[in-house]
Amino acid sequence: MPIVEYKKLSLVDYPGNTCAVVYFSKCNLRCVYCHNPKLVLDELMESRIDEKVLFREIIQFLSKRKNIIDGVVLTGGEPLLHDRIIKIAGLIKDLGLKVKLDTNGVQYGKLKELLHNDLVDYVALDYKGDRENIKEITGISNESLVIENWFKSFRILLESEVDFELRTTLVKGFHNTNNLISMAKEIIHSRDCGDFKWYLQSFRRDEKVLSDYSKDDVTLHAYSDQEVSEMLELLKKLGFIVEKR
Ligand code: SF4
Repeated sequence: MPIVEYKKLSLVDYPGNTCAVVYFSKCNLRCVYCHNPKLVLDELMESRIDEKVLFREIIQFLSKRKNIIDGVVLTGGEPLLHDRIIKIAGLIKDLGLKVKLDTNGVQYGKLKELLHNDLVDYVALDYKGDRENIKEITGISNESLVIENWFKSFRILLESEVDFELRTTLVKGFHNTNNLISMAKEIIHSRDCGDFKWYLQSFRRDEKVLSDYSKDDVTLHAYSDQEVSEMLELLKKLGFIVEKR
């Protein structure tokens, strides 16, 4: 059951484009601040959804709206966990619509396949933390593999012709200035390899997040606008193109 729901129209999920948004279930990470626990945790997923019926409905909807919207965002959960992502992206491209992918970058092989087959037009790649904080942010135990795979995805994107962005959600108590500088230093060589933007946003508590379902007592705090702006200036000084979301 990879596809679990869709949004018919969004003006904010695909920079510069009107789009529909298709949500995929499951994720290989467990980020404390995740706003989509019902797509990530098996026990919260709607088991009654008939994915074939939903998928048919989505394609029919997109066929009717293909002259009204510019593209489709594939998001999740983690869309690249599903083998069918290639076919689904292909069907959307066949309708003449652009495809934007949101990914955590761990499944670099699928990303490569999508890019190789010209099935994606824009990628938003999460850059979640540095080697110090990635484990506690993403709740995974094999952080070395996650980091290694993420860098493969990043390099694949740098070498591709496809536009992409990095995006980091900052959580007070999990990220500090040192983490951010160390993240910047890890990719400092890339400033001259492409003109990708790096977006910073603070964690916001407007609904239940993944850590609310954890047995551990985790408290998440937001950074103020001013604090995010100060971090943004630091990255700009290091030569990155950075914006706030
Ligand atoms: S925020 Fe983390 S846990 Fe949630 S969908 Fe994205 S990668 Fe998965």
